Amino acid sequence: MDDRINNAPCGYIAMTHEGFIQEVNHTFLMELGYPLIDVLDKHIESFMSTANKLIFHSYFYPFIHLNGHVDELFISLKDCSGNSIPYLLNGRRLERDGVEVFDCILMQMGRRVDYEHELRAAKHQMEEAYKEKETALAKLVTLHAEIEKKQAELLEMNALLLEMSHTDKLTGLKNRRYFQEALDGLIQGYPVDHQPFSLFILDIDHFKRVNDTYGHQIGDDVLERLGSILKSQARKEDIAARYGGEEFVLLLPQVDRDESTEMAENLRHIVACSIWETASITVSIGIATYTQDDTSTSLLKKADKALYLSKEMGRNRVTHAMDLT
Ligand code: GH3
Ligand code: MG
Ligand code: MG
Repeated sequence: MDDRINNAPCGYIAMTHEGFIQEVNHTFLMELGYPLIDVLDKHIESFMSTANKLIFHSYFYPFIHLNGHVDELFISLKDCSGNSIPYLLNGRRLERDGVEVFDCILMQMGRRVDYEHELRAAKHQMEEAYKEKETALAKLVTLHAEIEKKQAELLEMNALLLEMSHTDKLTGLKNRRYFQEALDGLIQGYPVDHQPFSLFILDIDHFKRVNDTYGHQIGDDVLERLGSILKSQARKEDIAARYGGEEFVLLLPQVDRDESTEMAENLRHIVACSIWETASITVSIGIATYTQDDTSTSLLKKADKALYLSKEMGRNRVTHAMDLT
């Protein structure tokens, strides 16, 4: 064999048309680690696994017979240690000395296959990482939704707590603290808007008797019911509150002296005409209308004085503080 073929940078074999190896170069023997004697006159398929034999049979022979050549056939051959070495095979059908032979060159594909495996592994890793990222993202979205839900619940809870801190438990009306803040707000706003406003202090007449006669629970029912009447009679902008015990207050924005007296009379009348599970219930009312010199304390004091007079005059009455002097 020509030295250049013998040491060519790829394997070379010549075989009969039945597949028996007639010539083999040194490079091929070195690559697979066989001595010449183990390869010469051996059938090419004896270096193949069953699967490779099947590929070889169904592709190599029919194709080379039909076309005279086979290009880039991917095939694996066993080396002397039984390892499977991937090759790329190009073959030509020739006639030499009147006999048909197949010349084949075999290019080792090990490195390329390794690269392919590495590429596939890298692709797989990337896909896994992508999946993990997607899962983490989905988890994050769920967490985010949960946090938002919790925040909404917290806001709701805060609003409820705030509402509770402003509310009288028994009657559901606003409590004294809320009333005081609202009153302070109206007084502070007065220099700006000059809106008149009035307030009532309303006290149940002889309420002690109600408790003494019907018991504390019935007394509570009366307080609750009176709370409902106040709520239903108050306008949207009014603030009805329980001031303490059996005393209630009503803050009436944009209501002057005359209007407030009329409204208080109306309220007194409704209470007195209501049917109660006790003997009839009446209330006494003291009214004060804000004047520029008033503070919340002075205004409440005026209303209280007026209330006192209503009581003095026989109860179930309305008195406006401006009528006292
Ligand atoms: P007046 O007409 O002068 O206002 O007489 P009164 O009996 O209503 O006034 P007094 O201040 O003597 O009594 C008020 C009563 O209100 C005494 C107290 O036991 C009762 N009271 C205060 N808070 C509550 C409550 O939350 N529930 C009940 N059932 N009674 C209460
Ligand atoms: Mg009282
Ligand atoms: Mg009373």
